[in-house]
Amino acid sequence: MIQNTDFYREILDNLYDGVYFLDRNRRITYWSKGAERITGFTSAEVVGKSCADDILTHVDEAGARLCVVGCPVAATIQDGLSRTAEIFLHHKDGHRVSVYVRAAALRDAEGRVTGAVEIFSDNSARLAALERIRELEAVAYLDSLTGLANRRYAEIALQTRFDEMQRYGWRFGVILIDLDHFKQINDTHGHAVGDQVLAMVARTLLGNARSFDVVGRWGGEEFLVVAANVDWQKLSAAANRFRMLVERSYLMLNAQIVRTTISGGATLAQPEDTVETLLKRADNLLYQSKANGRNRMTLDLL
Ligand code: GH3
Ligand code: MG
Ligand code: MG
Repeated sequence: MIQNTDFYREILDNLYDGVYFLDRNRRITYWSKGAERITGFTSAEVVGKSCADDILTHVDEAGARLCVVGCPVAATIQDGLSRTAEIFLHHKDGHRVSVYVRAAALRDAEGRVTGAVEIFSDNSARLAALERIRELEAVAYLDSLTGLANRRYAEIALQTRFDEMQRYGWRFGVILIDLDHFKQINDTHGHAVGDQVLAMVARTLLGNARSFDVVGRWGGEEFLVVAANVDWQKLSAAANRFRMLVERSYLMLNAQIVRTTISGGATLAQPEDTVETLLKRADNLLYQSKANGRNRMTLDLL
């Protein structure tokens, strides 16, 4: 029997959904951890009982007691056909829980129905709301034009790196990047093309960063790369690779090539830094790149 096999029990117990097995007499032979979580009834409380023993007292949309008038799993034991239903089960604490139920027949080697398995998922708006919150969270930290992390997220990442540096001594660096003469692109090609150029630069940066680096849109045409676990050489190499790859990126618009370059300031966080002093230093280095002719990266001296 499946329900006596530790291997299957472990799999079933790890499912988020509730799972239970019934024999032909609708006696419960197995009750998963998910079933305990959704209903509040423990395995010890229900295994061996009949599901008609007024434990779950499923009701349908109209409030009809399904044990009496049409339990889907009983019908499946009768005819061997799989079924789904949306029903409301009784939680041990008294309230009703909306669940989506799937019932399928269990068969022996000869194909005779020996019972049924019912899988039920929490159908409640609470779960839908959690899902929506996760989506909203993602949206709240995303820059809609470029698909990069937004400034809020980049600030959180910065603070996290600072905490790690203080606690574990892990070094990190930042690269503050600004598009060169970007106003000219807007003026020449229009704002919409400007937007496309921003998105193109963002994709080049993101696509060539390491998975544990955070690339954020810092402002209009400014980006911030928070590079974890780097030394001066690695930071310098990354900054100059970004610069080169952006210079080699281009949009084709009606057979016309539109391209841009970036300037940047890159610096390693020092133990005595704050977010403000670190960013101020990066900004000064970026300014030097602009003053020295653009399309370049400036780093602190070693
Ligand atoms: P510099 O090399 O000194 O940085 O010159 P620049 O022209 O890039 O700098 P400036 O600050 O004069 O102009 C930045 C321009 O970026 C002005 C602003 O209209 C444009 N910009 C900012 N955000 C956006 C955006 O989301 N979309 C578009 N299309 N343009 C933007
Ligand atoms: Mg700017
Ligand atoms: Mg600019």
